[in-house]
Amino acid sequence: MNYQSDEKGYYGTFGGAFIPEMMQQNISQLQSCYIEIIESDSFKEEFKTLLSDYAGRPSPLYYSDRLSDHYKAHIYLKREDLNHTGSHKINNTIGQILLAKRLGKTRIIAETGAGQHGVATATVCARAGLECIVYMGAVDVARQSPNVEKMKMLGAEVRPVQSGSKTLKDATNEAIRDWINNPVDTHYIIGSVVGPHPYPDMVARFQSVISEEIRIQLKEKTGRETPDYVIACVGGGSNAAGSFYHFLNNPEVKLIAVEAGGKGVDTGESAATTQLGRPGILHGSRSLLMQTADGQVIEPYSISAGLDYPGIGPMHANLFKTHRAQFLSATDDQALKAALYLSQKEGIIPALESAHALAALEMIEFKPDDVVVVNVSGRGDKDMETFLKYFQSVK
Ligand SMILES: *Cc1c(COP(=O)(O)O)cnc(C)c1O
Repeated sequence: MNYQSDEKGYYGTFGGAFIPEMMQQNISQLQSCYIEIIESDSFKEEFKTLLSDYAGRPSPLYYSDRLSDHYKAHIYLKREDLNHTGSHKINNTIGQILLAKRLGKTRIIAETGAGQHGVATATVCARAGLECIVYMGAVDVARQSPNVEKMKMLGAEVRPVQSGSKTLKDATNEAIRDWINNPVDTHYIIGSVVGPHPYPDMVARFQSVISEEIRIQLKEKTGRETPDYVIACVGGGSNAAGSFYHFLNNPEVKLIAVEAGGKGVDTGESAATTQLGRPGILHGSRSLLMQTADGQVIEPYSISAGLDYPGIGPMHANLFKTHRAQFLSATDDQALKAALYLSQKEGIIPALESAHALAALEMIEFKPDDVVVVNVSGRGDKDMETFLKYFQSVK
């Protein structure tokens, strides 16, 4: 079975490029040249150097004594939280800014939800000396003010989006609109494995450094390259795609994707796309999508702004459909508890998104010899206000 995209960007029946006429030029350009550019020796060299010297890679693979004790298995944490700007997002933005430079683009646009992708984009634009405009739902602008301030300090312009639910989906629509109006000088840095072909494949390739490193690090530590489990949270799916990538063709490695259950999958306030969604088209690709009977997008909900998206990338829709990955969901409460537990047992405050992956440790029955890798996609600094509110309310 092939779990990668074909040359038209299809993962089984999911993916493709469903775009308005006006976007055709930009997308065709990318489709025709992205592989040649990003697989060239000079690109790879520059990408690798920036990942190490600028972003701080490789991120450590840390053996957690205390989680291992508690869950009765060998638990390793992949520390994407230690990357520059605090999450895995920087892997993708470094790759895409190098691509934009090679395409001669001078203006960068991006969408952001929690602001992590916005900050990572503003960061690489500052370094590259390119103009940067970040679209962000007005609701998210209000609830993620530290990241808004960071983007501004980095020299980016943050444009609040007032349409729809004023969150990530609406910011994405606005970024697409901008690109249609500025087809020549602008590159759109999408923040996850979503959007029209070639974005899902391109972003997955940039994030695949995560599983590339896991294989090497695990070999050094345990003598074997493959774990029994890889666990990652899924918003659009980029950190999960990166964590799974080099294990897709090792069927003995169980891939666990954890969605945001919100207040509970059946409460109407959830973002568990594989459980609640049906096939449909959103933001240029065919995937699973939370929608009403007549195809209107249902507003997702999660306490974590990074998982609050009504779709998932087409690679994940296919992994779900083919049962190559198992999809679980963690509620707000389960994620908050997992975040507190990791903080107090290991001294690591994870991002709320990553805490969903950690919560899955409670749901799986491990064997004592199992080797388990949990991707800690980001750090929790941005979530302190949410954490404090919760811990006050449970006291
Ligand atoms: C953005 C974000 C996510 C969700 O995005 P994916 O594309 O699903 O990885 C998860 N964790 C962190 C820390 C994030 O910033």
